Amino acid sequence: MKPDVYSIKSKLVVFAVISTLLPTIGLGLLSFKQNEALINDSVTRELRVLIDNINRQLNKWSEENMLAIRALSTSNTVIEGLTVLQQPGTDNELTDTKQISSNMVDYLYSVQEKLDEILELTVFDHAGKIIASSSNTPEVHKVPEKWTHALLTSGVIAIPPVWNNHFATATVSITFPVLSYDNQRIGAIAATLDIGTFKSKLMEIKKLAAGEITMLDHKGNVLLSSAPNVDHQTTLSSQQWELMQMDEESVTYEGLAYPQAIGLTYLSEAIPAVILVEQNYYSSIQAAWIKLRDRFIEFVGMLVVIITGVALYMGHSIVTPLKRLIGAARSIVEGNLDIQLPIRHKDEVGQLTDMFNHMTNSLRSQRTEILAANQAMQQQNQLLQKLSITDGLTGLYNRNKLNVILAEQLARLKRHHRLFCLLMIDIDHFKNINDELGHIVGDKILMMVATVLLKSIRTIDYAARYGGDEFMIVLTETDLHAASIIAERIRAEVKATCLTLEAHPLPITLSIGITQSHQTDTTASDLIARADAALYEAKRLGRDQVYCVDDAA
Ligand code: GH3
Ligand code: MG
Repeated sequence: MKPDVYSIKSKLVVFAVISTLLPTIGLGLLSFKQNEALINDSVTRELRVLIDNINRQLNKWSEENMLAIRALSTSNTVIEGLTVLQQPGTDNELTDTKQISSNMVDYLYSVQEKLDEILELTVFDHAGKIIASSSNTPEVHKVPEKWTHALLTSGVIAIPPVWNNHFATATVSITFPVLSYDNQRIGAIAATLDIGTFKSKLMEIKKLAAGEITMLDHKGNVLLSSAPNVDHQTTLSSQQWELMQMDEESVTYEGLAYPQAIGLTYLSEAIPAVILVEQNYYSSIQAAWIKLRDRFIEFVGMLVVIITGVALYMGHSIVTPLKRLIGAARSIVEGNLDIQLPIRHKDEVGQLTDMFNHMTNSLRSQRTEILAANQAMQQQNQLLQKLSITDGLTGLYNRNKLNVILAEQLARLKRHHRLFCLLMIDIDHFKNINDELGHIVGDKILMMVATVLLKSIRTIDYAARYGGDEFMIVLTETDLHAASIIAERIRAEVKATCLTLEAHPLPITLSIGITQSHQTDTTASDLIARADAALYEAKRLGRDQVYCVDDAA
């Protein structure tokens, strides 16, 4: 069945859904805002943990390398070689210097071979002059002129982290002082370290947490990255550059490793490099947001289903009895009042149903009364109708009806040439009978004559009382001859009947005038006048006889 959008049920459902959705969506949006901040915080925390981890590993990497270089600076080959070179005035100074230098280079090579991180080693004398190097073109060719106490113990960054085209990797160069056995500074040793060797650590850390790690130099050039799409040729946008200046605060931006990233930077203490950690905005923030949104939609969907169900049930409980009422009202319109609706609830609809039942009961009883009154009226009408065409005393047709009958017969005559005869009957000397026997006996005689008349005619004929002691008979489809036979029979019958009456000595005789219908007759009066004339003739000729006007054309 097609749902009616204008029904109460539909309106209830629409209202329920709107009143559920509006506050829920409002609250949902508010909670989204709060949750977005929470998600951001959680991602920032993850990034911070990642940075801490990298920083720790980088410190370790740096410390291990520092230790290795420091160990080198305290090696006998280096100390003794530099000590000899410092002593003045030997004969074979040049030969010795070359020899020492050559020995030292060999030594540097042998050490460098053992340590993957070291790309180049260079030894300087106390004046800063290069004595030996594992490279023909050493990266570091200058040492600090003044060594503070801190530098003496921890070394100095000779060349900060930078992309090194010569070695095709990111490098950092560190210089350590070389001290004699009596703790005098006799030279220095510089090592260029391969930061690229830290990449394996980056990859290990990356496995533990989602995100990509990139190390940058202080100018923002990429040194090393765990992301496959990021290398030293990657250039920073101004947005990313700004991010590098920030610390301890995550930012959403166009990332290095991801099109849209949330990132955090940190300036490492071990070596002056910036550590940038990034997470994919879409898979972290947005995924969490989508999850949240989907849950919200599920929740709202469920709520809407429940509310719609409740609204439908409520609508149903209102609409069903209303529909019953509508159906019942329709039945009443169609005339069926035999209706009694069940009252299931005591609410307004229940009260309405109760009133409806009362109204139907009242209509039913009124209808019964109306029907009874109507029936009585119909009977009265029938009686009236009968009275209007009958004579009160004899029950025969009256004069009015006779006129109508004659008019109809004349019409039939005109249309179908159906002949008929009119008999005018008068009781002889009835005045005397009345006078001698009284009116009551006179009435009885009138009734007796009427009975004889009715008995003597067919169902297609008509008998009427014309007035006083005069009667008329219309014999349809009858000619003059047949009519005169019937008239004769009537006259004899009345005469015989009257004679049998004990109470009156006078014989009751009838005079009857007969006339036949003519094509020229136009009104009842034409016929009546002829019948009257015939009756007159019967009277004149001595009464108790039938006289026919035989003047048919
Ligand atoms: P005639 O042979 O010439 O017809 O003589 P008649 O005495 O019958 O004269 P007429 O026909 O004129 O008389 C009719 C009488 O019928 C007059 C009246 O007293 C009487 N009559 C008329 N109506 C009634 C009625 O309803 N009841 C009674 N009892 N008599 C009636
Ligand atoms: Mg008479």
